[in-house]
Amino acid sequence: MALKSITEADLKGKKVLARFDFNVPLKNGQISDSSRIDLALPTIRFLLEQGISKLTLMSHLGRPKGKVNPDLSLEPVADYLANQLNEEVILTESAISNGVKELLTLKSTKIVLLENLRFHPEEEQNGNEFAKSLSDYGEIYVNDAFGAAHRKHASVYNINKYFPNRAYAGLLLKAEIDSLNKILHSPKKPFMAIIGGAKISDKIKTIEKLLVNVDKLFIGGAMAYPFLKAKGQSIGNSLCNEEDIKLAKNILKADKGKKLVLPIDHMIVEKFGAKPITSKNTDIEEGYMGIDIGPKTIAHYQDLLKSAKTILWNGPMGVFENPDYAKGTMSLCETIAGLDAFSLVGGGDSVSAVNKSGLAQKFSHVSTGGGASLEYIEKGELPGIQALKFGV
Ligand code: AMP
Repeated sequence: MALKSITEADLKGKKVLARFDFNVPLKNGQISDSSRIDLALPTIRFLLEQGISKLTLMSHLGRPKGKVNPDLSLEPVADYLANQLNEEVILTESAISNGVKELLTLKSTKIVLLENLRFHPEEEQNGNEFAKSLSDYGEIYVNDAFGAAHRKHASVYNINKYFPNRAYAGLLLKAEIDSLNKILHSPKKPFMAIIGGAKISDKIKTIEKLLVNVDKLFIGGAMAYPFLKAKGQSIGNSLCNEEDIKLAKNILKADKGKKLVLPIDHMIVEKFGAKPITSKNTDIEEGYMGIDIGPKTIAHYQDLLKSAKTILWNGPMGVFENPDYAKGTMSLCETIAGLDAFSLVGGGDSVSAVNKSGLAQKFSHVSTGGGASLEYIEKGELPGIQALKFGV
């Protein structure tokens, strides 16, 4: 069953309750990257243009662990939204209080933002009463929080109980799922995936699932060292642990040398922060650690990627936060951006690399949910999406 989009809903005059992912990074109380809010704006504008009567917005911010934490108030988000929409956005004192209902009865009230949902432990506990109380604020429920769709939390899961046939996907959520479905169900071949980052254990299930469907799977970042070690290569002092080597061994055994592509050289340093040099070959010299893929690897990956018609990318190729160690990640970013292929990038770090490169527009889809996109690839479904489609 397909997701019902807000474009199919009868919204005129309705009170709408909408869940977004406004979980933006804050620095000294200021939003340091507004991307998540910006990506929600089309849905908010669409709802307002349909002549709805009230719009109640909900989100979490950070990890207050069920307690009120003024540092994690949604106040900067309310200010930012008000500025962008050129409308008053009233931030409530708490997500749950009679005051909110009263506020919504006032003629002058149009847009309300509920204070951080995670100030209440019931949000993460998927509390039924909490979900019910939230549901009182709207006649129609909209979920546009892809980044939270893999969580079984009250505002994305149990809340669906109270909106039978009145629950819809926002524009962003719909676009995310449509793009992931393309990768999952009908990828144009050759389909190639690039998996990087730091830990195999976090992405093991995704790698196993992908190995069934892809034509090639490139490994980069610290993720590569357990594989190399498992193959008997030396990796010097590179980031690696025994558990990951075990996992890598199993993956290598299952792959039988067919699809996995591993680095053939590396950028290495003796000490973190030092200028990198190139390793002589696939082995990493004693006393050195790998911090990025090397130039031969970049060229090899670029060459193979040329023929790809579908590309999935998750995780950086090195410690890209340091510009000296970012060449692998940025080179692949430029390569993918220049290809005529359906390209999807997910995962906080790879997305921030793509944004840094200024090439985000050249990707077919830049996903807002790292964990959510990996879990969707692995399982083909997410709790929040399931609940939105079929109820709870
Ligand atoms: P993940 O969250 O698994 O995608 O991991 C992202 C993190 O992996 C980034 O913060 C990178 O700095 C880190 N990373 C990538 N390559 C390496 C490496 N060779 N050594 C240590 N950390 C790395």
